[in-house]
Amino acid sequence: MDVVIVGGGPAGLSAALSLGRARRRVTVIDSGEPRNRTAAHMHGVLGHDGLSPLVLLERGRAEANGYGVRFLQGEVASARVEDGVIEVDTAHGTLRTRRLLVASGLEDVLPDIPGFREQWGRGVVVCPYCDGWEHRNNVIGVVATSARSVEQAQLLRQWSDRVVYFENVVGEASAADLDRLARRGIRVESGAVTSLRVEGERVTGVEVDGRVVDVEVVFTGPTLRPRDALLRSLGATTTESELGSWVDIDDDGRTSVPGVWAVGNVVNVRANVSVSLGLGSLVAGALNADLVADDIDALVDA
Ligand SMILES: Cc1cc2nc3c(=O)[nH]c(=O)nc-3n(C[C@H](O)[C@H](O)[C@H](O)COP(=O)(O)OP(=O)(O)OC[C@H]3O[C@@H](n4cnc5c(N)ncnc54)[C@H](O)[C@@H]3O)c2cc1C
Repeated sequence: MDVVIVGGGPAGLSAALSLGRARRRVTVIDSGEPRNRTAAHMHGVLGHDGLSPLVLLERGRAEANGYGVRFLQGEVASARVEDGVIEVDTAHGTLRTRRLLVASGLEDVLPDIPGFREQWGRGVVVCPYCDGWEHRNNVIGVVATSARSVEQAQLLRQWSDRVVYFENVVGEASAADLDRLARRGIRVESGAVTSLRVEGERVTGVEVDGRVVDVEVVFTGPTLRPRDALLRSLGATTTESELGSWVDIDDDGRTSVPGVWAVGNVVNVRANVSVSLGLGSLVAGALNADLVADDIDALVDA
């Protein structure tokens, strides 16, 4: 095998398509839980605006498969790198490969408020660029999860002049922030958020300190947890940022572990679908060039 790709979301599939077209032997192993799986529609992806994210992946698998890319279902928990050979353990046996590309995405850890998980991707969302347009001029609630949630509320003011900021204890705004929110007409509700009011399938209110405030959608900021256990188990170096600890990559997607690469949300918090597709293609080009260089070295050494 030339490349084993762990993760078949937009980043992994985009890389798989380019590598398949470059006549590389590629296997993608995927556990079937892409980050945006609960959203019915995907937005801001040129040529695919409004498409189901699952349909995008289905098409991507079919396209990559047309160039010989092989797909396996399952979760990869362990791999080893020894003398330039990488072994990846799967439910279908151990795969030997020259390169490993990890594209396993990230997990959104939601605040523990009843109703949030059930509504995730529909009445409770995260990304203004993905869902802001659909809620333009609506009453938008922002349930704070950290002091940074003030920025989310300020941003959402671009889509509606009826934004309500729920401090929710953790996101208590400073006097300066309160002033800036007030100047933009953003109402502040203090107190702990205890649940959502949902009517039918729609979010219609946020319960705070026993009273219900009317809203039509909730934006919030989950804790972002990269699914990077495999990379860490291989010894990949990491760097601390204000959003936690992230595995290091260079501009081409190489981690600090020889032969092991990474792309998409697992290493890049800003990789939306379009960015993930673009980076998947970029990393595939760099990976293929790396393999070509290896092939030449092998001939020179022989
Ligand atoms: C609710 C919601 C809505 C969103 N809407 C939009 C939108 O409208 N437009 C937009 O551009 N972006 C949107 N996003 C962001 C988008 O989901 C991400 O940008 C995108 O999914 C990142 O792609 P990825 O390939 O890096 O990761 P993912 O899409 O998460 O794919 C990773 C894949 O790897 C698999 N995997 C993980 N670990 C393993 C393992 N150990 N072994 C095997 N497989 C594994 C997972 O099951 C998954 O299939 C949204 C996000 C959320 C949460």
